[in-house]
Amino acid sequence: MAQTYDVVVIGAGPGGYIAAVRAAQLGLKVACVEKWRNPKGEAALGGTCLNVGCIPSKALLGSSEVFEKTRRHVGEHGISADGVRIDLAKMMARKDAIVSKMTKGVEFLFRKNRITWLRGHGRFVGAEDGAFRVEVLDEAAQDPDAKAPQLIDAVNVIIATGSKARHLPGIPVDNQRICDSEGALSMSEVPKRLGVIGAGVIGLELGSVWRRLGAQVTILEALPTFLAAADAGVRKEAWKQLTRQGLKIHLGAQVGAVQAGKRGLEVHWTDDQGAAQVLECDRLVVSAGRVPNTDGLGLDAVGLAVDGRGFIPVDLHCRTAVPNVWAVGDVVRGPMLAHKAGDEGVMVAELIAGQKPHIDYLCIPWVIYTSPEIAWVGRTEEQLQAEGRAYKSGQFPFSINGRALGVAAPEGFVKVLADATTDEVLGVHIVSAAASDLIAEAVLAMEFKASAEDIGRISHPHPSMSEVLREAALAATDQRALNM
Ligand code: NAD
Repeated sequence: MAQTYDVVVIGAGPGGYIAAVRAAQLGLKVACVEKWRNPKGEAALGGTCLNVGCIPSKALLGSSEVFEKTRRHVGEHGISADGVRIDLAKMMARKDAIVSKMTKGVEFLFRKNRITWLRGHGRFVGAEDGAFRVEVLDEAAQDPDAKAPQLIDAVNVIIATGSKARHLPGIPVDNQRICDSEGALSMSEVPKRLGVIGAGVIGLELGSVWRRLGAQVTILEALPTFLAAADAGVRKEAWKQLTRQGLKIHLGAQVGAVQAGKRGLEVHWTDDQGAAQVLECDRLVVSAGRVPNTDGLGLDAVGLAVDGRGFIPVDLHCRTAVPNVWAVGDVVRGPMLAHKAGDEGVMVAELIAGQKPHIDYLCIPWVIYTSPEIAWVGRTEEQLQAEGRAYKSGQFPFSINGRALGVAAPEGFVKVLADATTDEVLGVHIVSAAASDLIAEAVLAMEFKASAEDIGRISHPHPSMSEVLREAALAATDQRALNM
C-alpha cells in the first residue's frame, strides 16, 4: 500500500521547503521529494538558492567586497594594508561551509516538523480516489534497494521544482571554461579576462565578484537598455557606479559563435552599430536568464500542461488547472526570486489548511547585490507614466547622510514615488550599500498603504541610513526634506 500524505511537495528549494514547513506547522502530514546531490554526492535540501544560487553568491560577494575594500579603500580611514592577497581555495571553502550550514538547517527543520524527505525525482503517474499518485525515483542512490521506484499518494501536490540556467545555442557550457551561474561560483583561479553574456542580475553580481578579485570583466548585453526592469534613475546611477568600478558593459550586443582560439576563448559578437567584434577571454559566464524545471514531471498523467515558455499556468493563489495541484516559485509567472517563491509556499500551505492568505505581488521587493546594492518595490516612474497616474517624486542622496559618510558608503539615493492626490506610496527605489535592508521598511509601508507623509512623520534612528528614506518621503510630500 502506498503511503498517503495530505501534502506532497516536489522540490525543496525556498518555495518547496517553506511550503512543507508551513503545511507541517498547520498539522498536515507532509512529504517533500528532492533529488539534489551536492558535489560530494550527498543528498541535500535547499535547492538552487541554498546550494548554487543566492547563498553561495552572497558569500563570494561578501568575501570579494572585503578584499576590494581592504585593497583600495581602507586608506581613507587612515589604515594601511600592504601585500593584501587572496587565498581563493580558502574563500571557496568558506562559501561551501556557509552552504552546508544552511542546507543542514533545512534538514533540521524537516526533522523538527516531522516532514518526510523522499530522496529522488518526483513525477505524477496518475490519480485515483481523490489522490494523486507520485513516483519517486532515486537514480543516484548508492544502495541498490533505494534505486527502486517508490510510490506515494497525495491529497495535495505542490510543484516547486524551480528553474535552471538558460544555455545558448552553439555555446556549450562545461562549467570549466564556459560556465553558467553554477560554474561561476566555483572557479579554481581568478581568470585574467572574464567574458559575461547578459547584464542581468547574475551577470552583474558574479561579474562584480570576479572583477573585485582581479579579473578584467566584459559583459555583453543584448538589449539596448541596462537593467530594463529598474526605474530609469536607478539604471543611470547603477550604470555610473558599476562602470566606474571597472565593469565594461556593451549594450545592444548580438553574440554569435564562441571558439577556442590561440589566446583563449573568442566570442564573436556584433555591436550596436552592426560592426563585427571579437571578445577574447579566458573564461566565459553565460547568464542569459533561467528556464522553469517542468520536464519529466508527468504533468500529462493528471491533465496538466505547461505554457509556450514551459511555465505552469496558475491563478493568483497558485492554483493550477487541476484542483489540489498547486505550483509555486520559478515554475510559475512572476519574478524568479527566492522570497517570492517562499511567500507563495506559505500562501499555498495556508490555503490547503483552510485559511485565507493573500499575496500583494506589487509589494514583492527586488534586490541586486552589487556594490552599491540596488533595491526597489512597487512601480517605477515609467510604469506610472504609462498608466497615466499622477504622482509626486521625492529623492534624497546618501552623500549628505552622517551615517553613510561614517561608514564610507555615500553612494546612491532613495527615491519615493507617491500618488499626487492621496499621497499613498506607489514605489520606492534605492541605490545604496544598505539597500537590501532599507527596502524592507518600504515594503511594510506599501503593504499597509502608508502615505509618504506617514514615513516622514515616523521617528527614524539618528544617525542611520534609514533617515535617507524618511527624507525622500518628506521630499515627496508637500513638506520639504529636513536636511536639505
Ligand atoms: P536576467 O533575466 O536577470 O538577465 C539576463 C540578461 O541577459 C538580460 O538582460 C537579457 O537581456 C540578457 N540576454 C539574454 N540573452 C542574451 C544573449 N543571447 N546575449 C546577450 N544578452 C542576453 O537573468 P539572470 O541574470 O540569468 O538571472 C536569472 C534569474 O535569477 C532572474 O530572474 C533573477 O531575478 C534571478 N536571480 C535573482 C537574484 C537576486 O534576487 N539578487 C540573483 C540571481 C538571480
